[in-house]
Amino acid sequence: MMKILLTIALVLGLGLYRQQKSDYVYICISETAVAYHKTRDTCKGIKACNHQILKVTKEQAMKKYKYRACKLCYR
Ligand SMILES: [Zn+2]
Repeated sequence: MMKILLTIALVLGLGLYRQQKSDYVYICISETAVAYHKTRDTCKGIKACNHQILKVTKEQAMKKYKYRACKLCYR
């Protein structure tokens, strides 16, 4: 019984850990922007953005905004 509880606690703990660790990415809100970026300061792609820059989760960037990973940030 104790073992089962420990397993459950471990699984829940890992789940929380994953959620907290969910990656944030930066996206440029422009009609021509297609990629999300790892940082907002070091990438050429997002530096060229002169629109609003949003910080969202990677999941949002992909599912909601249909962005793909930036080739410069994610090599
Ligand atoms: Zn980038």
